[in-house]
Amino acid sequence: MPTFVRTDKCDGCKGQDKTACMYICPHDLMMLDKDGSQTGHAMKAYNQEPEQCWECYSCVKICPQNAIEVRHYADIVPLGASVQPLRGSDSILWTIKFRNGTVKRFKFPIRTTPEGSADPYGGKPAADWKDATDDKVLFTKGTHKVDMSQFLKG
Ligand code: SF4
Ligand code: SF4
Repeated sequence: MPTFVRTDKCDGCKGQDKTACMYICPHDLMMLDKDGSQTGHAMKAYNQEPEQCWECYSCVKICPQNAIEVRHYADIVPLGASVQPLRGSDSILWTIKFRNGTVKRFKFPIRTTPEGSADPYGGKPAADWKDATDDKVLFTKGTHKVDMSQFLKG
């Protein structure tokens, strides 16, 4: 279910050209309503296509004002409950609110790799187009062995 912006908390990332939520959304859903013509709330962000939201939580985690929340499926998070992260420099704190008023908090350490420095292909061989037609040289060959006999059982 989609994200929504708490207009009482959002500060429009202080009027920057691209807000943090716009920068991070992998689906380009977040927009800043600069003049209020779209939502009636000038300089507040909004999710322009809620039905397209992946619920990836990226915008929720990056928002410096903790202004973005998620409407979940009712069978996972019933109406009146919420799941909200608060990202720190070395940890992330999840606050789970139940409908009966119970609140639980879970704190986990997060990665310390500086932003932009991750190298997902580090230590892997360079890609070669001809390998795409040769299943002997799959990228994950040797790391993910599949026992095909498991799929042939009647
Ligand atoms: S990242 Fe947060 S504060 Fe910045 S524009 Fe988006 S919702 Fe508003
Ligand atoms: S939860 Fe993910 S897909 Fe949905 S608006 Fe936020 S960043 Fe975009």
